[in-house]
Amino acid sequence: MNHPLREAPSIPDLHVVWITAGLSCDGDSVAVTGATQPSIEDLVGGAIAGLPKIHLHNPLLAYEVGDDFIDIMRKAADGKLEPYVLVVEGSIPNEHLSGDGFWAALGTDPVSGQPIKTTEWLDRLAPGAAAVIAVGTCATYGGIPAMAGNPTGAMGVPDYLGWDFRSKLGVPIVCVPGCPVQPDNFTEVVTYLAFQLVGKAPMIPLDAALRPQWLFNETVHEGCDRGGYYESADFAKRYGDKQCIVKLGCYGPVVNCNVAKRGWMNGVGGCPNVGGICIGCTMPGFPDKFMPFMEEPPGAKMSSTAVVMYGRTVRALRQFTQQQLNREPAWRHSGPERTTGYQEED
Ligand code: SF4
Ligand code: SF4
Ligand code: SF4
Repeated sequence: MNHPLREAPSIPDLHVVWITAGLSCDGDSVAVTGATQPSIEDLVGGAIAGLPKIHLHNPLLAYEVGDDFIDIMRKAADGKLEPYVLVVEGSIPNEHLSGDGFWAALGTDPVSGQPIKTTEWLDRLAPGAAAVIAVGTCATYGGIPAMAGNPTGAMGVPDYLGWDFRSKLGVPIVCVPGCPVQPDNFTEVVTYLAFQLVGKAPMIPLDAALRPQWLFNETVHEGCDRGGYYESADFAKRYGDKQCIVKLGCYGPVVNCNVAKRGWMNGVGGCPNVGGICIGCTMPGFPDKFMPFMEEPPGAKMSSTAVVMYGRTVRALRQFTQQQLNREPAWRHSGPERTTGYQEED
């Protein structure tokens, strides 16, 4: 008799085709090598039960180079690498503004010998993808290359493909922002989509900015180690101080990001926890709406003034309560008499 596990329907291998040829510093590829929950090794090594076998094709990590790597992308574009998830890193330039040249390209066309623009790869690969993931804030919303005054007309993947784009399997673009992305946020999203694509998870829940809700619903402030200092109006005056750094420019109270809770690598770190102001890098308005960096956010002036009004009083009252709680009850003493019970402490 066959073992029941051997009778389970086979799960197709999943290819992750990753383009880093937008306007990109490759920082997201580097960051993701530090993922631990799950790690890249877990994903490609089949360590997660029920997950399809994953083949990762990332130009920084692949053994294939040159045309051998481009052949993988050609196969995907020609429908010979099914199913695949397309991952895009880096912002998408507006090639209508590049004149006779181009802003970004990867590989060369064997017939014309001309560079293949990144936008052409997107046009060829996005329609056949089971899902499209934009990784890092450049790819999600344009990021640093899309700042005011830039010459390239850079934009995020949803701006390029359309915010209502749906993959071949009906999945919206999934945005996993961050500059760079928090590594586990990305590998967790790949894991989720892999389970969804084999029918083991419902449609991925996204917010209005196409971010996975369970990762981006809460603010930095709601997970910050320094929240207690904020509440009692104890603000850092200089970098290196242990208190809340809102007066030094932290935007945490209004930024959707889980890094303070999740840490950066293996649960350790996370910008404000370790003294770095939050500059809003997961937000569609980044960076322009958060500049100048390192100045107290305008909204923080009002809210922290309100906190000061009650925070210092509350802090003083808590110190009094804390002193009481740091003393043992009076009945704990040596001697023949049993005095256990509620009584006045002297
Ligand atoms: Fe680099 Fe940040 Fe852009 Fe990622 S989002 S490519 S880390 S600049
Ligand atoms: Fe909030 Fe930033 Fe202060 Fe943390 S450091 S408590 S995120 S304002
Ligand atoms: Fe970016 Fe702020 Fe999150 Fe740090 S805490 S990763 S600066 S959004």
